[in-house]
Amino acid sequence: MKEQGKIWMNGKLVPYKNAKVHVLTHALHYSTAIFEGIRCYNTPRGPMIFRLPEHVDRLFKSAKMYSMKMPYTKKEISDGIIKTVKASKLKECYIRPIAYYGHGVMGLTPTPNKVEVAIACWEWNTGESSAGKIRGARCKVSSWLRIDSRSQPMQAKAASNYANAALARVEALRDGYDEAIMLNYHGKVSEGSAENIFIVNKDEISTPPLSSGILDGITRDSVIKIAKSEGFTIIQRDIDREDLYVADEVFMTGTAAEVKSVTEIDNITIGDGKLGEITRKLQNAFYEASRGKDERFSEWFTPV
Ligand code: PMP
Repeated sequence: MKEQGKIWMNGKLVPYKNAKVHVLTHALHYSTAIFEGIRCYNTPRGPMIFRLPEHVDRLFKSAKMYSMKMPYTKKEISDGIIKTVKASKLKECYIRPIAYYGHGVMGLTPTPNKVEVAIACWEWNTGESSAGKIRGARCKVSSWLRIDSRSQPMQAKAASNYANAALARVEALRDGYDEAIMLNYHGKVSEGSAENIFIVNKDEISTPPLSSGILDGITRDSVIKIAKSEGFTIIQRDIDREDLYVADEVFMTGTAAEVKSVTEIDNITIGDGKLGEITRKLQNAFYEASRGKDERFSEWFTPV
């Protein structure tokens, strides 16, 4: 990441090097933070933020699920995001708004501390997400189970949920895979460490339901809408580990990953081991839609 540009902190743009937090920040010790991951794409009509209202809504839902009182309105956060991207002069970037409990009163109870909000953006380095685009990703079903909503609100995009995800990611990478697939406490497929998952059988596409303990992914929603408009049937149902192995195609979706193909799981080849035809079709359709080249989805964009 280039250490330049400006970061929005509690309503003001500050230089990158000045965007600091105190070591006694509550969120650093107790994971009391919620955040978002958003993309800005360079479209034929200029830089546009992809599905900004949906991301801001999810940020506020995440805060609510953790009883965190946001000190700004949705409009102020949206304006802050646009201002940060504009100041960066980047035509394409990844945007990270985060709300967290600051410092002052140490101890488990977060509420005596101020809720601080920051927004940063940076050029997206495709390195991390190249597996699945250039070649199919090799995944491992994690030995770590996805925590479920009996323990934590998993539909919140909360820092605390990512300890579980990072364990799975690190295990998969250490074992020589590109990504982890996590099962939930019922042994059903939930999601990747930072992506939702889909399987394809003939021309039927299935994905685990929200009740399987997944994040309500905005790329998941975009791909469902795109696939439906292309005439595919999408079923939200419980998926077993075995269903993964015998699927014709498997793919994952996420803001960072976009649509990535999975061609091997637990060393078992998926389909013929090549990027599947339907995955390829949806990958291309998502690419066109997210780059503002599909008029059917023009309402997904907010100009910078
Ligand atoms: N699940 C998890 C756990 C994630 O971190 C992400 C990335 N935000 C996703 C799914 C995909 O969500 P989205 O498409 O909104 O980025």
